[in-house]
Amino acid sequence: MRYCFRMRLPLTKSSDYLREIMIREHLARRGIHDPEVLRAMREVPREAFVGEGMQELAYEDGPLPIEEGQTISQPYIVAYMTEALELSSSDRVLEIGTGSGYAAAILSRIVGAVYSVERLEGLAHSARQRLAMLGYSNIVVHVGDGTLGWLEHSPYDAIVVTAGAPQVPKPLLEQLAIGGRLVIPVGASYEVQILVRVRRVSEHDYHREELCGVRFVPLIGAAGW
Ligand code: SAM
Repeated sequence: MRYCFRMRLPLTKSSDYLREIMIREHLARRGIHDPEVLRAMREVPREAFVGEGMQELAYEDGPLPIEEGQTISQPYIVAYMTEALELSSSDRVLEIGTGSGYAAAILSRIVGAVYSVERLEGLAHSARQRLAMLGYSNIVVHVGDGTLGWLEHSPYDAIVVTAGAPQVPKPLLEQLAIGGRLVIPVGASYEVQILVRVRRVSEHDYHREELCGVRFVPLIGAAGW
C-alpha cells in the first residue's frame, strides 16, 4: 500500500488499486460475500468523502474524522452493516446519520431509493453537494432528528442507523415495513455498542438478533441520547 504512494502514482490510479486491496484484504477475506455489496464498495470512491488531507488514508480500514467532530465509518463496518440489511434492488432504505454521505452512496448503488437524515445542517449540506457532484441521484438528504425517522416516506424495507443509540428508537420500529430489517448499534454506554438487527415479522412482532460489538459516535435526539 505504502509502495504506491512512494512511487507517486496519480491519485486516481493508486485509489483504484488501493480500493481493490481494501476489498480483497479487509472485506472479502473477513467474510463479506454479498456480490452486490462488494460491487458497491468497488464503485464508490471513498477518497471523495474523507476530509481535506486525509485522501491517502481513505483505504486504510479505520474510521476517519470529518467536519463537526463526526466520523466516516470504517469500510469493513459499512460493508458489514450493508450486508446485514439483506437488500434487494427494489428496496427503499432509510439511513440515520448521513455524515459524509459515504454509506448513503454505497446503499444507493444497490437499492432504488435512499432517504438519509442528518441532524447537523453543515454536514447535510456538504454531503448533498458531494453526492450531487458524484452523480448519485437516488439519495435524498434531510436535516432533522433521525431518532424520529422520516415518516413522510415510510414504511422502509430497511433502516440503518450509523450512530450509537441507548435503545432502539420506537419511531424507527414503527416506520419499518413488515419483513423489513433495521440495523442499529445499541448500548447503555455512550462509547461502545452491540450491533443489533431487528426484523419486523408482523404488525406487532419483531425479531431481534445481536451481531457484533461496535463503536460509534452517539445518536443524539428525542429517542436517542
Ligand atoms: N454514515 C456516515 C458516513 O458514511 O459518513 C457516518 C455517520 S457518523 C459515524 C454518525 C452521524 O450521525 C454523524 O454525522 C452525526 O451527526 C449523526 N447523528 C447523530 N445523531 C443523529 C440524529 N438524531 N439524527 C440524524 N443524525 C444524527
